[in-house]
Amino acid sequence: MIKKVLVANRGEIAIRVMRSCRELGLITVAVFSEADRKSLHVRYADEAYCIGPPPSRESYLNIDSIIEVAKKSGADAIHPGYGFLSENPKFPERCVEAGIIFIGPSAYSIATMGDKVTARQTMTKAGVLVVPGTTYSITEEKQAVEVVNEIGLPVMIKASAGGGGKGMRLVRNNNDLIHYFRTAKSEALNAFGDDSVYIEKYIESPHHIEFQILADRHGNVIHLFERECSIQRRHQKVIEETPSPLMTPLLREEMGRVACAAAKAVNYEGAGTIEFIVNDNLEYYFLEMNTRLQVEHPITERVVGVDLVKEQIKIANGLPLTLKQENLRQDGHAIQCRIYAEDPDHDFMPQPGIIRQITVPLGLGVRYDGYVYEGYEIPMYYDPLISKLISWGKTRRESLDRMRRALYEYKITGVKTNIKFLERIMDVPAFLEGKYNTNFIENNKEVLFTPKKCGTECEDMAMIACFIDYLEKIEKVQPQKFTEDLASNWKDFGRKRSVLRL
Ligand code: ADP
Repeated sequence: MIKKVLVANRGEIAIRVMRSCRELGLITVAVFSEADRKSLHVRYADEAYCIGPPPSRESYLNIDSIIEVAKKSGADAIHPGYGFLSENPKFPERCVEAGIIFIGPSAYSIATMGDKVTARQTMTKAGVLVVPGTTYSITEEKQAVEVVNEIGLPVMIKASAGGGGKGMRLVRNNNDLIHYFRTAKSEALNAFGDDSVYIEKYIESPHHIEFQILADRHGNVIHLFERECSIQRRHQKVIEETPSPLMTPLLREEMGRVACAAAKAVNYEGAGTIEFIVNDNLEYYFLEMNTRLQVEHPITERVVGVDLVKEQIKIANGLPLTLKQENLRQDGHAIQCRIYAEDPDHDFMPQPGIIRQITVPLGLGVRYDGYVYEGYEIPMYYDPLISKLISWGKTRRESLDRMRRALYEYKITGVKTNIKFLERIMDVPAFLEGKYNTNFIENNKEVLFTPKKCGTECEDMAMIACFIDYLEKIEKVQPQKFTEDLASNWKDFGRKRSVLRL
């Protein structure tokens, strides 16, 4: 049985995983890059080890260092969180070689579902309907033209190794095809070291609806209902909710069954998510599978009443699922907002920097999964997610009112965030009525973004003026040593075991 867990991740998800470990009485080991020395996940863990310089490929993506720390610390299991190594099939392989339990699916499941073309082939064989398009990679421009002639515009060109919306292009016009084909390929090569792409039909008025599944080693597969993730920017989720306003009981049952069949087709073990694209006629198509814990898992936890990390650990221990499909219910409604250090008015540009002041929302029906504190410097090296705010209510309306109230309470100064932008979304009629699709942000840009009162030139001048004012101020005021003085060291002193710091 697992006794000591190394969490191969950082930020909010590392803390989230460690919380469940603590409740289970397991010892936790954090790993951190040199940029994360003062990160809360380092303080939260029972032990913490530096694994390298700030760039991810030299630290959080460095399998050798992580396995070495696991061995040195005596961790018997590794939880990958999401992102980083969580969907790299080499990672579970290396864990198995080292005699360490990987809290997640097998290398085979990850490899099959991780390559989108292989996943499409596998799902088609299993009788799961995929988005119409090719089930092979397209290398030649001539081939791309032939496929588009056959399936018709609009289409999506997508990277086989895709993720994070990279290497993806929507083609509505024949004249754009070759240009987008080339840019998708080069972006895919840059991001994934693999330029294979495939083409699928663009589904109009798309809704992104996904199903949470859990599968054990004994052949039991269940689903924990759906999450609606259609509020997206750059094809990436910003707000998620469950139940989905689009869903009907019949469709839920059917899609849940298909999701379980999809997981079974790859002998899945652990927590995973089957993503679907659904159109306005409620026709649904398999999009992809995420073979890990999702960023948006807390809304399912709240509504279904299940701790998904504890379930992952139980499954990794080889125990059978005790949850039964027929006993699961959706209780009330939950919404999650992703809080990013980014500037919605400037193409959602990341805004690393020092958090000067933070007031975290609390109160009935609010969950907060975060990792920053006053004086903390958000590093420029990683995803700018600061926290996740989750609201719950007996009804969608109550959940939404609580989210609006929580966003109002949430104050962060020092870095720009998307909090105001999210607050505006809460008041858009289409969101209030639950009648939206993935075009929501584009369709409501007039009310969501700050109107530009003058041209960009005028705005640039204003930014320069602010910057000069800022420089003058910091010349006059002694800079506060935030990170050193305001960050409490209580956890270090209280730690039972030694902390290895470079
Ligand atoms: P990634 O793995 O890069 O995140 P996905 O395949 O999961 O890419 O797609 C991300 C988002 O892009 C979807 O949630 C959806 O909004 C949009 N999308 C992807 N494929 C299609 C499609 N065929 N039709 C319409 N929208 C799509």
